[in-house]
Amino acid sequence: MKNARDGRRKLTFKRADVILIICSLTVAAVLFVAGIISPAGRLTQLRVRAYRDGELCLDHAVTDELRTVLTGHEGGENVVVIHDNGVYIETADCPGQDCVKMGRITKAGEEIVCLPHRLVIRIEGGKAGIDAVVR
Ligand SMILES: [Zn+2]
Repeated sequence: MKNARDGRRKLTFKRADVILIICSLTVAAVLFVAGIISPAGRLTQLRVRAYRDGELCLDHAVTDELRTVLTGHEGGENVVVIHDNGVYIETADCPGQDCVKMGRITKAGEEIVCLPHRLVIRIEGGKAGIDAVVR
């Protein structure tokens, strides 16, 4: 009787262990999935980076509103606006105004180039395909 009860108790323990393992696996799976999702969540943490003559002159989160003047080659000025998870050049004193005409960029890999001022404004970070998964 006593032995049988012990045996049952052991079995119960084993079943509890199995449940514990399943719980652990579930937690691990949840964390794993969260880990996959979180980089996508970081899509909002894309950086706006500006390069003048190939040198980094601005590094700012795309989520942080900003209006700043970037001085480009030969003192040219570009008013860069980071707004609503995007960036655009509001005004510039370059001849062609191509950078202004390029409008707003919002995705990683997109860039605005102001050739006369040798300025490149690019959105970096995250991965282009991920936002499709999120949305
Ligand atoms: Zn320009």
